[in-house]
Amino acid sequence: MRIFKFGGASVKDAAGVRNLADIVKAQAEDALVVVSAMGKTTNALETIVQAYVRHDTQTLQATLKTVSEYHQHIMDELGGDFPAANQTLNGLKAMVTQPATGSYDEVYDQIVSLGEIISTQIVAAYVQQRIHTARWFDARQLVRTDNTYREGRVDWAKTGQLIEQAIGHKGINITQGFVGQSADGHTTTLGRDGSDYSAAIFAYCLNAESVTIWKDVPGVLNADPRWFDETILLEKLTYQDAIELAYYGATVIHPKTIKPLQNKGIPLYVRSFLDPSAAGTVIGNFKQSLSTPSFIFKVNQVLISLHPNDFSFIAEDNLSRIFGRFALAGVKINLMQNTAISFSVVVDNNPDRVPALLDQLKQDFRVNYNDGLELITIRYYDQRTIDRVLLNKKLLLEQKSRYTAQLVVRDLG
Ligand code: ADP
Ligand code: ASP
Ligand code: MG
Repeated sequence: MRIFKFGGASVKDAAGVRNLADIVKAQAEDALVVVSAMGKTTNALETIVQAYVRHDTQTLQATLKTVSEYHQHIMDELGGDFPAANQTLNGLKAMVTQPATGSYDEVYDQIVSLGEIISTQIVAAYVQQRIHTARWFDARQLVRTDNTYREGRVDWAKTGQLIEQAIGHKGINITQGFVGQSADGHTTTLGRDGSDYSAAIFAYCLNAESVTIWKDVPGVLNADPRWFDETILLEKLTYQDAIELAYYGATVIHPKTIKPLQNKGIPLYVRSFLDPSAAGTVIGNFKQSLSTPSFIFKVNQVLISLHPNDFSFIAEDNLSRIFGRFALAGVKINLMQNTAISFSVVVDNNPDRVPALLDQLKQDFRVNYNDGLELITIRYYDQRTIDRVLLNKKLLLEQKSRYTAQLVVRDLG
């Protein structure tokens, strides 16, 4: 059994859905196909949640209309009947006429997860016309998580049982990425861009032969082609290198995807849905990756430096207080560095979270911060590549390990 994963970009229109069916038909007799919400639907559903909770009827109705017409247009272009998808769309419209219950994050998961449900209902109905044996599965019944809404933590033992019982190893099976359910029956999601991770969860539980994630790029490149004109395809990557690249922010693979596959030695292919005959990248148990320098850019970074008010050193007690505050504020640290009397961190400058965190930190520390920065990570760096990326940049902080260099810079251009 192989796992195929198609993201939002691959099913953004009717041509994309047809292309998905072509790829599945040509490449797999037995597969589990994990599909995301279509195009930018998840963003639109986030707008719906916000408008619903804030009673902003105008935005709510306008966005519902956009989401509904968008899917309707795809169904019209594909032709045929889509009763399940239409029912889900009507369910969404009905849901937001009722008062919201539960926390914001709980409401978010109940609504945002519907993007994947509708998408797979459309894809399954269409694929069934082309490949008659295709079956649709509700991943909410299969992926068991705790009730951490928007970042559900997987209960691997229960999920393994549920998936193994439900999904046969023959034929074409279709299900959703990103969604799960807590033990008390509430829908959860696995965090934005979590569909790659879902593919890995299914692969792990089914002892799959391989996972293929179909993307709009030729494979894993040595830099994001949105930022770099000249990129190189990395044909083979070790799990370790793939984990490092994803962890530091190469968004082509969700960082949680790789570890479960590594544990079972399941190869991960990253291939282009625009050129399905090309080999792309294979990630597996290789001795060594090619040591081509790879670049990861994160923009809109803020460097926060903390100095204890009481002239104490940056030692265990201060560090545990600092980390506690970051965890509570939900702010992830991209880089950290300390001296005897100061502690510096670089984080994404999230306007919903960082200002509140700074206020908290100011209770115990003198706080300096610099915003509008870039964090550049180079895997397999050498001085020449560092010098090249530093052209026209002011270097504020640098950190090097054996294979990875991280540079916090201000763009002077
Ligand atoms: P999906 O449709 O599956 O959600 P994503 O948009 O999350 O796909 O991932 C594909 C995108 O990842 C590409 O369009 C590309 O801009 C970006 N990307 C970032 N880093 C890399 C990299 N190192 N190699 C290839 N693509 C990258
Ligand atoms: N649809 C979800 C998102 O946009 C999950 C995914 O696409 O991976 O975040
Ligand atoms: Mg994605």
